[in-house]
Amino acid sequence: MSLPVETDRLTKRYGELVAVDEVTLTVRPGEIYGFLGPNGAGKTTTLRMLLGLVRASSGSVRLLGSAPGSPGHLERVGALIEGPGFWPYLSGRDNLKVLARYAKVGASDVDRVLDLVDLTDRAGDRYRTYSLGMKQRLGVAAALLKDPRLLILDEPTNGLDPAGMADMRALIRKLGADGCTVLLSSHLLSEVQQICDRVAVIAKGRIVAESTVAELRGDVRVKVVADPLP
Ligand code: ATP
Repeated sequence: MSLPVETDRLTKRYGELVAVDEVTLTVRPGEIYGFLGPNGAGKTTTLRMLLGLVRASSGSVRLLGSAPGSPGHLERVGALIEGPGFWPYLSGRDNLKVLARYAKVGASDVDRVLDLVDLTDRAGDRYRTYSLGMKQRLGVAAALLKDPRLLILDEPTNGLDPAGMADMRALIRKLGADGCTVLLSSHLLSEVQQICDRVAVIAKGRIVAESTVAELRGDVRVKVVADPLP
């Protein structure tokens, strides 16, 4: 069976700057895998290369066995990577209905994902009235429409208040328990400790540690790069 994520010496250069420097990592089926590092470490650039949104300077990527640009590359992959383009004056449900048509899935899938992210009660309200946490959960709902086997989430709790963070973490754990493989980035050590099975730590574009969450505790290389939870 193909691995959800496999990269081999993945590198991105912007002129003199090496934003991502020979990143090799493997995410196994069913894992919740954390990609931990401070601002500017190269997390978003790496995730964008995985999705084919940024072309790698060198190295390779496979998601569920397929390389970016090949047919079916993102067929079973959902992603929350940039402020999703939702329509402010449409309801949450109507936003998802539009996206469902693009994803070629049905109305029952819209109800399914609204339920998964716990937005059914507010699904009829306009998107512009949603809290940031609800907007993020709607973003995850959109990523779940095509029932992905792999979910890639770029700092899904960024900007959320403590309650919104707790809701998002609970949602990610639930998705993991339901069998979805999740790769998420974060700059919060405690967050990956709470949610993830394994973690790669990235600093200045390089992986400086990769281990289980249990092994991360007390690792000085991690203390140097990871912020504690506020
Ligand atoms: P953050 O948590 O702030 O989003 P990050 O770990 O996701 O940080 P990246 O956004 O991947 O980090 O950025 C890594 C480095 O690459 C940074 O120094 C950034 O300024 C640089 N960079 C990213 N995109 C570009 C670009 N299009 N052109 C030039 N430099 C870029």
